Amino acid sequence: MIFRRISEIRVTCNKTADFLIIGGGIIGVMMACQAKRRHPGARVVLIEKESQLALHASGRNSGVLHAGFYYSTDSLKARFTREGNERLRAYCVERSLPINGCGKLVVANDETELETLGKLYRRGKENGVDIHEISAAEAREIEPRIKTFERALYSPTTASVDPKAVMDALARDAAALGVELRVNNAYLESRNGKVETSEGSWSVGYVINAAGLYADRIAKDFGFGESYAIIPFKGLYLYSDEPVSAFRANIYPVPDLRNPFLGVHITLTASGRIKIGPTAIPCLWREHYDAFHNFSFRDLREIVPRELGLWWRNEFDFRRLAFEELRKYSRKHIVTLASRLATGIEPGRCRHWGAPGIRAQLYDTRNRKLVMDFRFEGDDRSFHVLNAVSPAFTCALPFTEFMFDHIDGLLNKSVRASGYRLRRLQNIVGEKGGDHMQAIGGDGMGPQ
Ligand SMILES: Cc1cc2nc3c(=O)[nH]c(=O)nc-3n(C[C@H](O)[C@H](O)[C@H](O)COP(=O)(O)OP(=O)(O)OC[C@H]3O[C@@H](n4cnc5c(N)ncnc54)[C@H](O)[C@@H]3O)c2cc1C
Repeated sequence: MIFRRISEIRVTCNKTADFLIIGGGIIGVMMACQAKRRHPGARVVLIEKESQLALHASGRNSGVLHAGFYYSTDSLKARFTREGNERLRAYCVERSLPINGCGKLVVANDETELETLGKLYRRGKENGVDIHEISAAEAREIEPRIKTFERALYSPTTASVDPKAVMDALARDAAALGVELRVNNAYLESRNGKVETSEGSWSVGYVINAAGLYADRIAKDFGFGESYAIIPFKGLYLYSDEPVSAFRANIYPVPDLRNPFLGVHITLTASGRIKIGPTAIPCLWREHYDAFHNFSFRDLREIVPRELGLWWRNEFDFRRLAFEELRKYSRKHIVTLASRLATGIEPGRCRHWGAPGIRAQLYDTRNRKLVMDFRFEGDDRSFHVLNAVSPAFTCALPFTEFMFDHIDGLLNKSVRASGYRLRRLQNIVGEKGGDHMQAIGGDGMGPQ
């Protein structure tokens, strides 16, 4: 019944879709699958501006399935991470995709960090996560090279996957369900009730914006996301050429609560390779991967003044964050940071930088804060995923189901009211969760 108005459109226009999803990352692909599973008769089209799916965050992340102990209980992140981890691990096993169930240790540098370690442990317990506070000796039994002060946290359910392999499998699922995946097709604008793309004009019943780094800009075309802007942060990794099995577990520092990222850590890939990083370097344009890659003057004009403002007002300790992160362009510095976590990290063995990824971090321009929790907005015509930051890859299965429940609710209400009055949807849970990191002691922290 939701699609009555679309079938009318089809008579006059050949580019029509009941659901048009913008963005072929994990969120877009899973939202498309949700649309098709719930509405098998609907025409579900996903457009992706690149020549392949997952060329941005979803194919360039750390590949860590997080456990869920960083977030306060009232946040969407806490609600979905544990379940997302369980379900994505099961999916990888079922599809025979590479997975490394290496677990994770969080280590303390000195006595001052033990308090935060304790907070993370309590938070994990509140979130129902399998988490253990262990002695330094016990930690060394798990990972002999670890360095920690007195205690450590052990998370056995943290695992590493190959994000590209996961995305390939999901794309195959989407195609098998009947989702039309159209690459090389960029959303351009929304005009006169039509969606203009590089492939032409589309008449669409419902638009889902899962465009990652561009989600804020697209949302504004539909009257949403007015008080938000994306600030892109680059994550660089350094690879070690130590043999597979040189480490047994991922090793993370106690997070610095003054900034929103987790600090340099040591992670094992699904195949056991060792990565050090990532950084969180502020970018000057959205796809500022390196040098002048995908340079955008429009982005530059928007992002640089915003970052200068953050620098000037020193919001969320931005000056120190930017300074610290820029230093991580130095291989020597990043190796020094990793050496605080484990023994035997040699600069000579860490020579190769991996492909960087860029975080689409949402900034609340009204409250002048980084948005810590997932954020979405929508009505009975369009829906905008505005802050699918880490650990959205881990959370994607339950998170997209949750968002689609909201979409179905809006569409059903709209049909019942037999009109299309605008009903704005704000994710109230996420709104409350927005300050969840403050409770742990700082304006900003989220897993990378
Ligand atoms: C360095 C780094 C490390 C991370 N580590 C982890 C981790 O270990 N674990 C974890 O759970 N999460 C991690 N994350 C977070 C995770 O990668 C993201 O939360 C997730 O991939 C977001 O998916 P997405 O679909 O929203 O965005 P994306 O994957 O960026 O997808 C958005 C898509 O939209 C497309 N698009 C944009 N504009 C248009 C347009 N105009 N028309 C058509 N298409 C368009 C883009 O090309 C892109 O393919 C990490 C992220 C980064 C950057």
